[in-house]
Amino acid sequence: MPHNLIIIGSGPAGWTAAIYAARAELKPVLFEGPEPGGQLMTTTEVENFPGFPKGILGSELMANMREQAKRFGTEIISDNVTAVDFSARPFKVTAGTNVHEANSVIISTGATARRLGLESEKALYGKGVSACATCDGFFFKGKQVIVVGGGDAAMEEACFLTRFADKVTIVHRRAEFKASKIMQERALANPKIQVIWNSAVEEILGVDIGHVTGVKLKDTVTGETRDMAIDGVFAAIGHEPTTALFKNILDLDEKGYIKTAPDSTCTSIQGVFAAGDVQDAKYRQAISAAGSGCMAAIEAERFLA
Ligand code: NDP
Repeated sequence: MPHNLIIIGSGPAGWTAAIYAARAELKPVLFEGPEPGGQLMTTTEVENFPGFPKGILGSELMANMREQAKRFGTEIISDNVTAVDFSARPFKVTAGTNVHEANSVIISTGATARRLGLESEKALYGKGVSACATCDGFFFKGKQVIVVGGGDAAMEEACFLTRFADKVTIVHRRAEFKASKIMQERALANPKIQVIWNSAVEEILGVDIGHVTGVKLKDTVTGETRDMAIDGVFAAIGHEPTTALFKNILDLDEKGYIKTAPDSTCTSIQGVFAAGDVQDAKYRQAISAAGSGCMAAIEAERFLA
C-alpha cells in the first residue's frame, strides 16, 4: 500500500507540514535527510519566531517541532532521499536501497548558504571562515573581518558583526550594491564599516597555520591582486536551493528554486507540493517556511480527498 503522503526534509516547513498532515490522520512519513533540522541548527538564538517572547535556540525549536509531529503519529525516517520518480502515481521515493510509494509528496528540502568555492575556504571553515554572522560573530570580539557580498544579507551581516569586531570591511565584486537602499544606507553610515569595491576574494590565507590570517583580493577591473591581513571571512553571497534531485522532473526557476503556483504550494506535477526555502528565495524565514508547510499539508489533504 502506498503512503498517503511523504514529506522530504526536516526544517520548519517539513515539520509544520507533518504536524498538520498527521492531525488530519494522513499518517505522513517524513525523511529527515542529511542535515536534520536544516538551517536553524546552525543559528543560536531565534528571537523572531512568534510564541517565544524570550527567544529559543534554533536546535531546541526544531527538536520541539519534531516532537510535536511525532506526537500526532508522523513516521520519521532518518535517511537521505537519493531519487524520486514522479512520472506516475503512486510516486516513488528512493532512500538507500528502499523504494517508498506515496500518493502525494511535499518537498521541503530547504536551501544552503552559497560558498565562495575556494579550497582554502574549505580548509579554514570554522577556523575564521563562516557563512553565518549570527552563529559565529561572537568569536570575533575586537577583531577585523571581511564580509563578501553586496546583497541585503551582506549589509545585515556586516552591521551585525560591528557589535563584536573592531572593523568590518565589505568586499564586493562590483561598484554598486544589489542591496536595498535602506540596508545600504544603514551599513554605509556605520563608522566601523568600510567597503572595498570591484574586488573578489581569490584566496584565503592561513591554511598553513590553521586559521585565517588574511585574504588575497583581486581587482575585478584591473586584475591586480593584493594581500589584506584579516582575522575572519564571512561569505554572504546568497543561498542555493536543495533541488538537484528534482532537476528535469519539476519546473524550477532560473535560480533553481521549485516553481509553485501563485498563492499555493502546487508544483508542476499534480500531487507534488513544495514548501519553505526550496521554493522561496524572497522571505526565507523560519515562520514563513512553517506557514507554507501548513499550506502544503492542507493542499495535500484536499488533493488526496
Ligand atoms: P542576493 O542574491 O540578494 O545577493 C547576493 C550577493 O552576493 C550579490 O551582491 C552578489 O553579487 C554576491 N555574490 C554572489 N555570488 C558571489 C560570488 N561567488 N562571489 C562574490 N560575490 C557573490 O542574496 P542575499 O542572501 O543577500 O539575499 C537573498 C534574499 O533575502 C533577498 O531577496 C534579500 O532581499 C533577502 N534578505 C532580506 C533581508 C532583510 O530585509 N532584512 C536580510 C537578508 C536577506 P552581484 O551583486 O554582483 O550579483
